[in-house]
Amino acid sequence: MAKTIQSIRGVHDVLPEQSIHWQYVESIFRDLMSDYGYKEIRMPILESTDLFIRSIGEVTDIVEKEMYTFTDRNGSKLTLRPEGTAGCVRAGIQHGLLYNQQQRLWYCGPMFRRERPQKGRYRQFHQFGVETFGMAGPDIDAELIALTARLWERLNLKEITLELNSIGNTTSRENYKESLVEYFNQHRELLDEDSQRRLTSNPMRILDSKNPSMQEMIGQAPNILDYLDEESSAHFEQLKALLDAMQIHYVINPRLVRGLDYYSNTVFEWTTTQLGSQGTVCGGGRYDKLVEHLGSRETPACGFGLGIERLLGLLEAQDVQPPQKAPHFYFIMRGEKAQIAGMQLTESLRDTVDGVKIICNCGGGSFKAQMKRADKSHAAYALILADTEVDSAHISIKPLQSRDEQKLIPQAELKEYIESLNLV
Ligand code: ATP
Ligand code: MG
Repeated sequence: MAKTIQSIRGVHDVLPEQSIHWQYVESIFRDLMSDYGYKEIRMPILESTDLFIRSIGEVTDIVEKEMYTFTDRNGSKLTLRPEGTAGCVRAGIQHGLLYNQQQRLWYCGPMFRRERPQKGRYRQFHQFGVETFGMAGPDIDAELIALTARLWERLNLKEITLELNSIGNTTSRENYKESLVEYFNQHRELLDEDSQRRLTSNPMRILDSKNPSMQEMIGQAPNILDYLDEESSAHFEQLKALLDAMQIHYVINPRLVRGLDYYSNTVFEWTTTQLGSQGTVCGGGRYDKLVEHLGSRETPACGFGLGIERLLGLLEAQDVQPPQKAPHFYFIMRGEKAQIAGMQLTESLRDTVDGVKIICNCGGGSFKAQMKRADKSHAAYALILADTEVDSAHISIKPLQSRDEQKLIPQAELKEYIESLNLV
């Protein structure tokens, strides 16, 4: 036999047992989005490499070392999207959805980053993303945070903390960066190679470093909140007041930054200690200058990305189970006539009883084998049809989850009987 082929490193299948959990979080997220008036946008997975270089920025882990990029047959450079914001903004500009309009958008799908695979960090992973456009005030920032808080609530999740910061507007950041560079220069010997490089290209990213030996020094760095100008300060204060009014608790974390110039003001992350070092489940913030940076007219924007694998990891850690969706019936057929009449009857039940879930036995098998499959399906009842019952137009119903008696009823009364069971 030839050697079998395995999936590639950091890229995983979602098996039927797990897909129940995926569908559960997806349906809760979809309903939540619809409740808040957000509309779905579906962007391509492949985009021009330039889009990500321009929007994520050259001096970032993603663009420097994590993108899956290849040259197409015609010579153009393409990349598998590492995140959704860039593509969403590109689509918004291309189709005229942004200028002078308000948009509340969401998407869901795979992202690709060539990172070192470990628990909660994969090369193909999935995100729910939300992006809003055309709203400059802290109200929409607060709405995004409130809807994520509601998502945890609907999923019954606990032990998840909101970390909040403001990186101010461009002017506030100019002054801050100056002090920051001065501080890091005084501690140059503690900076790792990446950080030394970023000292000139993108000093705020150094605050984001996960290098344990730099944490203490980073902890003493100047605090961005001391550098906010009046406008940025007001935005932040109003956001906090809105969160307070909605009773959403937060922890201010002045080290929470996004190092690129088109990010501004609000930055937030939802973190947990239950997922080891991959503890950020959701990260977001405001990016008022990105639309302009990508060549269109200035449009305020705010959004977040939420890692679905990490969300599922947290659900598992807290033992949150999706509601069971076992079938109502498993249809067992004994004999050739029963096989034909049974399939016919199953389809007519599907026509007449809205929402009924029936697994129809296929592939034959003895009565015993079919009963075994029925048990394995966790169906509430077995419907049993033998050739003799076809002749007398009856059918048997056997409860599988209780000790109640098996019943023989006329087929003509089956619909009514099923309705009386109140299963659907
Ligand atoms: P991290 O600091 O964990 O690398 P990030 O800042 O790179 O995260 P974002 O780009 O903000 O992450 O993406 C939003 C969310 O997507 C993260 O909070 C996380 O939940 C999830 N995520 C990011 N990278 C991965 C990955 N490689 N595997 C699984 N989930 C991921
Ligand atoms: Mg990362």
